Amino acid sequence: MEALEDTLRRLREAFREGRTRPAEFRAAQLRGLGRFLQDHKQRLQEALAQDLHKSAFESLVSEVAISQGEVDLALRSLRTWMKDEPVARNLVRGQEGWGGCLRPLGGLHGPSPRLPLQATQMDSAFIRKEPFGLVLIVAPWNYPVNLTLVPLVGALAAGNCVVLKPSEISRSTEKILAEELPRYLDQSCFAVVLGGPSEMGQLLEHRFDYIFFTGSPHVGKIVMAAAAKHLTPITLELGGKNPCYVDDNCDPQTVANRVAWFRYFNTGQTCVAPDYVLCSPEMQERLLPALQSAITRFYGDDPKSSPNLGRIISHKHFQRLQGLLRCGRVAIGGQSDESERYIAPTVLVDVQAAEPVMQEEIFGPILPLLTVRSLDEAIDFINQREKPLALYAFSNSSQVVRQVLARTSSGGFCGNDGFMHMTLASLPFGGVGNSGMGRYHGKFSFDTFSHQRACLLRSPGMEKINHIRYPPYTPGKLRLLLLAMDERCCSCTLL
Ligand code: NAD
Repeated sequence: MEALEDTLRRLREAFREGRTRPAEFRAAQLRGLGRFLQDHKQRLQEALAQDLHKSAFESLVSEVAISQGEVDLALRSLRTWMKDEPVARNLVRGQEGWGGCLRPLGGLHGPSPRLPLQATQMDSAFIRKEPFGLVLIVAPWNYPVNLTLVPLVGALAAGNCVVLKPSEISRSTEKILAEELPRYLDQSCFAVVLGGPSEMGQLLEHRFDYIFFTGSPHVGKIVMAAAAKHLTPITLELGGKNPCYVDDNCDPQTVANRVAWFRYFNTGQTCVAPDYVLCSPEMQERLLPALQSAITRFYGDDPKSSPNLGRIISHKHFQRLQGLLRCGRVAIGGQSDESERYIAPTVLVDVQAAEPVMQEEIFGPILPLLTVRSLDEAIDFINQREKPLALYAFSNSSQVVRQVLARTSSGGFCGNDGFMHMTLASLPFGGVGNSGMGRYHGKFSFDTFSHQRACLLRSPGMEKINHIRYPPYTPGKLRLLLLAMDERCCSCTLL
């Protein structure tokens, strides 16, 4: 096996040679990624079933189809995204030609003299989206296809060389990504590196031009500290506790259906799942039978035998969740079977804010209901904690939903539903504060993996005009320059 240093050297060389820059090359990589998803759809579904007991429905919808959709969008939009973005130039005047004169507005600097300025129609000012170079993408285990390949789409579209580090915990999926994916991509520009924390430690000693990390806030801090040594820019897609406020003015069954679906989807192992519900004691009484009804309809009387409910990824996570089941009082579910890493869809009530289930991200099929006396109390509760990745508010009153939106902060927000906001590639997906920094999906991915280079191309002639910026400085030159700057909000290419 090639040593890590050699792999990184090989990829760096390919980038330096400019191999990944042409649009055709990028499109070929994206098409390769699309073919990989098509050819291995079945194997990926089987791997996801082995890793997480994920149903074929959830695998297709939340892993394969989403990744394929991002590939298709990038292929359709690539040339538009890559285009230089023209920006406003200073001192532009329609009629004035090269070397013309401007009459700046009066104002602060007194009456306007005729100002001999170079008209900038001949200049070209634009933002060039250029690839960073060698990027590292690190993925978690809970959506091991989606969270590995969707960032990869952005990195390839933006023309980077990529080292991909899938999670070692979702082993079956990791194996397909390592063995098959490289066959579909140019191996001089792309590599999969395997391993857990110790291999990641070695990887992070190297210098990358960009790091895109999805995982826990704890490891996010390790990645950020390592990136800081090389001043490497990063995106951190992290987790946390996502609140879900349920107003009294709601249909409890509709709320219960939506909340139960997105809490127990992927067995609760979803970074944007609602972590806890805040509602009045009266709404809690109405929600409990509605949640029981939704769970029974979704997973049957014996959820353990349902093909639609997954399993906990590992024994370590199973044990952690067993500890959380001891918080508050079990109102629904609570059963578990360690031999299968099974935990029933569970609802807890009478939970105290100081208990572990409210202190850490749950990341499992457990939903605590906490009671509050008012909307204000719910908002205070939310704002006293770390900024979440997602925040949900349910109410028939749009005013209530808008109040929650206006008075809180989170990576994303969805009124009257679950994580549907993240299914729109037209919305940026990412956290804020403790839930991360940066964003991706759709064009946001392309922009994340592109350096926005500020470019101004000027004429080599017309040197005379520049004399007003050169020493010896005089009050007259200063006045002219200040006038020019005043004219266009301080942007002045004479300086
Ligand atoms: P994790 O942070 O434990 O692991 C993520 C990646 O980091 C893995 O590839 C792993 O190999 C590596 N890693 C683990 N420990 C490390 C260490 N000590 N040093 C260096 N690298 C290390 O996260 P996880 O358990 O795989 O995933 C669950 C977490 O990810 C949850 O907090 C969840 O909310 C979050 N998450 C966030 C998003 C998002 O889009 N914001 C999506 C999915 C999961």
